[in-house]
Amino acid sequence: MKGYAGKITRVNLTSGQVLEEPLEEPFARKYLGGNGFAARGLIDTVPPGADPLGPDNAFIVCAGPLTGTLAHGSGRAGIVTRSPLTGFFMDSYFGGEFGARLKQSGRDMIVVTGRSPEPVVLFCDGDQVRILSAGKLWGKTTRRTQDLLREELGPGLSTVCCGPAGEAQVPLACCIGGRRAAGRGGTGAVMGSKNLKAICVRGFGDIRVADMKGLLRFYRETKGRFLGLENLVKLGTPFLVDMINKAGGLGTRNWQEETWEGAELIRAERILQDHFVRNWGCFACNLGGCTRVVRTTQRPGVLTEGPEYETLFALGSNCGVNDLNAIIEADRLCDDYGIDTISFGGSVGFAMECFEKGLLTEKDTGGLEFRFGNAETLVRCVRLVAEREGFGDFLARGVRAMAAEIGGEALKFACHIKGLEPPGHSARALKCMGVGYAVSPRGGSHHDSRPAPEYQMDLAQRRSTEGKAAMAYDTATWSAVGDCLIVCRFCEPVYGGVLTQTHADLVNLTVGWDMTLEELTEVGCRVHTLERFFNCREGLRRRHETLPYRFMHEEIPSGTSKGFRTSPGELDRMLDEYYELRGWDPDGVPTRETLDRFGLSDLDLEALKVG
Ligand code: SF4
Repeated sequence: MKGYAGKITRVNLTSGQVLEEPLEEPFARKYLGGNGFAARGLIDTVPPGADPLGPDNAFIVCAGPLTGTLAHGSGRAGIVTRSPLTGFFMDSYFGGEFGARLKQSGRDMIVVTGRSPEPVVLFCDGDQVRILSAGKLWGKTTRRTQDLLREELGPGLSTVCCGPAGEAQVPLACCIGGRRAAGRGGTGAVMGSKNLKAICVRGFGDIRVADMKGLLRFYRETKGRFLGLENLVKLGTPFLVDMINKAGGLGTRNWQEETWEGAELIRAERILQDHFVRNWGCFACNLGGCTRVVRTTQRPGVLTEGPEYETLFALGSNCGVNDLNAIIEADRLCDDYGIDTISFGGSVGFAMECFEKGLLTEKDTGGLEFRFGNAETLVRCVRLVAEREGFGDFLARGVRAMAAEIGGEALKFACHIKGLEPPGHSARALKCMGVGYAVSPRGGSHHDSRPAPEYQMDLAQRRSTEGKAAMAYDTATWSAVGDCLIVCRFCEPVYGGVLTQTHADLVNLTVGWDMTLEELTEVGCRVHTLERFFNCREGLRRRHETLPYRFMHEEIPSGTSKGFRTSPGELDRMLDEYYELRGWDPDGVPTRETLDRFGLSDLDLEALKVG
């Protein structure tokens, strides 16, 4: 079987036991890779009700069949676990080169369970698997950790690690590989809970493909489709700030508004003019690299990457902060300490609204002025959250937990979906995202259902809920396959934003199968159903699939999308449509028929009765 490395590694950190097993072709064809392998792995490995931060949870690192090949952006890898922030299924992906190196080390997936008595590093060095002491790395930033590991273990190393926030089991903590974040859902906290500071991989194995000539021909023929994405290379994802602000969907001051007067000061051209150093790209990026290495004007010697659009939204408009130096610095600190910028910005923005409404005072915040636009507070909070110091310990819990403790009016402007703070794509201005967030296995994530198609619509089309459940369904099926393969999201304009024959061709040229678009679509639906089953086993039901009160009951007050909201009635209708398309019952549980249709007859519906 070409394309795959051919091995799955299982490590129990409590016992130190390492098992390596061959990847079987029927399993590979059924679950495809990445997210599919990991979703199945999570269901089979993690017992129902396991504490996300306990030894029974699994921390899974995965690659896909295209990983490490010349497919666009194929250096990516995924991390899959039960989230401490949502309590549900979580998959999060990061660019760079780790995924390619994981495959070159001979592995498609590493499944880590248990909890080491001491801090450790898991080192998969070709055929060898070693568990090394991480004593001197504990407490170090993600950047320093990777530097020290390179010094100690030598060249050819690729690392993913947690920072001090992960060690402190902050639910907002992420994992960092290179300078790329597997940001969402507290993956870093799971790593820290296992006393696992880092996973390093090294290997020089070939990743053989079935039809190299065919793949080269494919890339020659599709190369032209990358044209038109020049803005992404020139400006990076920050070009979206301007576009989304003009569309009236840029979450501002904790989503009180969706058009921001400060957008001009943080737009992409400003970054290019005052902070840009050079472009950088992931392994096999056919675009030429959308990442920008930047610096602040105050400390020009300190280079960092980003901020991406989501960070500009979360730390910028959502907190009312229009100071690019502060945003770049807070972004850099979040990466160093290992904190998800989206959830961090969501939590700070929420606290700022509480403060301005008198629900929090300086007595609560330890003297910090939590007013919108306060750049100093934003930057100071990163370390406080990472080290759970003072008010940082409260912020570190995320919006849902903070709102539950404050109670009352705060519950009405607590912006989270299933406990995950939403990214910068409006659930009011984009109805597909309204239902997409509600049904997302991850909660407030734009990587299940996708926002791109709706941005191209006119206002009347955007305002309507017509066809939006189907759009959420199609794009989420694409995402499920995209996360199995694993490919960069920015290939949407190249391969298609929903599944097309192009995706099936890529799989066949790489692996040597004869997969049809129909079979590939079935894989996407199967993987989505697996994630659903996992969540239903943890108690997820229709009543959890809702939107923040603000998104359903408060209209966008100004701007292009003025008057938009996704009302409870609209959401209800879209949920009905979505459940029907997926073959789930009215409470959102996959039916026996659906499980059988996707070859998941072994999954026990009786196990879901706890819901
Ligand atoms: S487009 Fe950006 S995220 Fe995608 S592979 Fe290239 S550099 Fe990485």
